[in-house]
This record gives sequence, structure tokens and C-alpha cells, in this order.
Amino acid sequence: MNTDEKIYDVCIVGAGFSGLVLAIKLARAGLLVCLTDLNKMVGRKILSTGNGRCNFTNSRLGKEYYYSNSDLSFISDNHQEFRQFLRELGVFDKDLDGYFYPYTNQAKTIREALENEINALGVDLYLDNRATDISFDNVYTVVTNKSKLMAKKVCVACGGLSAATLGSSKFGYKMANKFGMHTTKLAPSLVGVTSSDICLKELAGVRASGRVTYKDHSCEGEIQFNKDGVSGYPVMCISRFIGLDELDKRLSDIRIDFVPYLTNEELTEEIKNRFSKNQDQTIISSLLGLCNEKAVEQVVSYSRIYGDTAVKKLDDEDIENLVYNFKAFSISVNGTKGFDNSQVTAGGVDLADINLDTMESLTKSGLYFIGEVLDVDGICGGYNLTWAYTSAILAANDLIKVIKC
Ligand SMILES: Cc1cc2nc3c(=O)[nH]c(=O)nc-3n(C[C@H](O)[C@H](O)[C@H](O)COP(=O)(O)OP(=O)(O)OC[C@H]3O[C@@H](n4cnc5c(N)ncnc54)[C@H](O)[C@@H]3O)c2cc1C
Repeated sequence: MNTDEKIYDVCIVGAGFSGLVLAIKLARAGLLVCLTDLNKMVGRKILSTGNGRCNFTNSRLGKEYYYSNSDLSFISDNHQEFRQFLRELGVFDKDLDGYFYPYTNQAKTIREALENEINALGVDLYLDNRATDISFDNVYTVVTNKSKLMAKKVCVACGGLSAATLGSSKFGYKMANKFGMHTTKLAPSLVGVTSSDICLKELAGVRASGRVTYKDHSCEGEIQFNKDGVSGYPVMCISRFIGLDELDKRLSDIRIDFVPYLTNEELTEEIKNRFSKNQDQTIISSLLGLCNEKAVEQVVSYSRIYGDTAVKKLDDEDIENLVYNFKAFSISVNGTKGFDNSQVTAGGVDLADINLDTMESLTKSGLYFIGEVLDVDGICGGYNLTWAYTSAILAANDLIKVIKC
């Protein structure tokens, strides 16, 4: 066991996005900082973000893009400041309809820019070091499987339970509980959902546009149907609610609106017009173009109509059924594809136990929590890295003030 005699100003557990931003800010202010991570490289997860392109922020920012059990009114639009932070590290970016990526289209640009700055600032790195405990006796001691690190303050930046292969652990939640803080229910979010619904036999492989609704939550975009479930942007955005309901065994079906651009009345009118134009046409060819053709076939089948039926044989009740199934196609779900396949963890360290101006624990002075370990999760679109950045900056501002005083 390597017991470093140094007493660091701040020891940060987790060299992910939030931990790296915090370390850079503190070291730039002249603080003695160390970072420990169970991985052999810093920022391992960053490489996988945004399908390897890293969608790091979004021009549409605000509390409405995040979920938590607490009020998130303190979240403001800081995407320009975040872009500037990366720009100063040499990262130019590009704006794709409000979604920001590095200009190189490579997540590794961001990971390496952060790593270069950490090295240039002389931050002590304890990689391949899994933190197992934090104790306090005048100073903090962070115990890892290889080292004992002493520090005046500790920041837990070890993320949630998602994507274990990229580095995750329960450490943050355990330490929160150890120091008298609460944790909220944890569930996978931004993840596909599983289903054994019979319709997937026909729909597997299809990508269709539509609006997905689960209870009161809905989102629009491209839906991907697989043999064992459904994924794609709108499914991922509502998946946290399915994950949380799975815990309580309160699952409901999801509903898909394959024609979100028309109201029920407009769709009824559209179908009637199509039917009246060519009465000998089959139902399938008559409905062509309303949505993905495989989805049309399923809607027709769910409406108990054979695909080769001539439209002249259909009555108002058939049209009513078709409209219902186009607008609220039901798929039963069994749960989510789990933490390992999820991009973010819903729930975490309860914000009621955190000073939201500083990210310091309200139950243990000198102990800070930032990033995904906290009970904040965003939808797809750069929101989670923005939260990692935002919480790191709040903690940095306070730590610099407190330690330099
Ligand atoms: C596949 C994928 C794609 C994503 N794409 C995007 C995207 O495009 N845009 C976006 O905004 N968000 C995206 N996210 C989410 C985003 O990456 C995370 O929300 C963000 O990285 C959280 O930052 P963090 O610093 O809190 O935690 P992390 O980045 O998870 O870092 C935590 C670090 O702590 C380390 N650690 C954990 N336990 C211990 C321990 N006991 N001891 C020592 N070290 C420990 C881990 O190894 C890790 O390096 C994606 C996530 C995944 C998995």
C-alpha cells in the first residue's frame, strides 16, 4: 500500500468528465490536487459518448431537460461558458442544430485535451486505483486498493451505475450513506426497453418516425424496433420512467403515435379522402406514405383488417380502429436493457443533502459530490456532460474560495 505523506488540498475520486473539469479548475488556481480512478486512463467513458463523437452540450438548456426528485431551478444556460472552457483547451466545436460536438467529430479530442491539461498542470494521478473508503480524522483519507491519500477536502465524482465496462461503481452512494446522506431510487436511463410483444416479430429491424408515450411522458423521433425490444432517441428519453416503474413492478404499455403530424380528426379525414379516391385499392396501398410501410402493415393487422382488403369493404368503425392504432399503437414492455446498456443513471445522492450553490454535503463539511452520482439525469443531447461540467464548476468555485481563505 502506497501511503503518500502529502496532504492534498483536494482529492477527487473519479477521473471522468466532472472530476477532470474540477481538477483543472482547482490546479489552475494553484491548489494541490490528486485524482484517483479505477481505470487505467482518465476519461475512459468520454470516448464512447455521442457514438464516439461526444455531444457535449446543447444551446437549449434549462431545468426542463433534466429529471430529479428535487427542484432544479438552479440550472441555467451556461453552454457558451462550457464551449469556451473547451475552446481554451484547444477544442473547436460545431453546432448541429443546437447540439454541440467537437469540430473533429471525435470524442477522443475532448478526452485528450482534458488529459493534456491535467498533465500540464501537474495534477497527481492515481490510475488503476479503486477507491474503497473515505474516512475523516482531522484530514480526509481516501483509501484505494493501492494507496492511502490524505486531503483537506474530498470530492466524489465517481458517476453512477451505468456502463460498467467503462468504469462505474456503487462507491459514491455508499460514501453518501456512510456520511449520513440519503440516496434516491436508482434506475437505468437513456437505454432501450425490452419487450416480448408479438408485433416485434414483424417490426424487428424497422426504423420508424413517431412519438412514444409512456404514462404522462412522451418524446418524438426515430424509433428502432428489435427482436427483443424497442430503442432509439424517443424511447431512450422516456426509459428512466420505465426503469423506475420496473423497480416497483408498476409497468404499463408504451404507446406509439406513428402519425404525430396529424390530429385524430385530420387523420380520419385523410383516410376517408384516400378511400373515396379509389375504392378498389387495397387498404395497404391506400395508406401508403402515412408512416413506415411495416408499421402500416402492423396497424392494419392490429385493426383486424386483412392487408389485401379493398377499401370499399371498410366502414366507419374500421376507420376508427385504424386511427386508434396509428395514433396509439400499444407495445407491452418488460423493463429496460439494464444499467450496463444505459448511458446514465436516474436517481442518486439526494440533492436535499447537498448545498446546491457549492455541491458540498450538508451532513459532512469538506465532502463534495459532483456529476452523475447525484440525483440529476438529463435527456439525450449533451445534457449529462453539461451537468457534469456545471456541478464541477460550482464545486470548484467554492473549494478555491474556502481553501485559499
Ligand atoms: C455510451 C454512452 C454515451 C453517452 N453519450 C453522451 C453524450 O453524447 N452526451 C452527454 O451529455 N452524455 C453522454 N453520456 C453520459 C455521460 O457520459 C455521463 O453522464 C458523464 O460522463 C458523467 O460524468 P461523471 O464525471 O459524473 O461520471 P463518469 O464520466 O462516469 O466518471 C466517473 C469516473 O469514476 C470512476 N470510478 C467509479 N468508481 C470508482 C471508484 N470506486 N474508485 C475510483 N474511480 C471510480 C470511473 O472509472 C469513471 O472514470 C453517455 C454515456 C454513455 C455510457
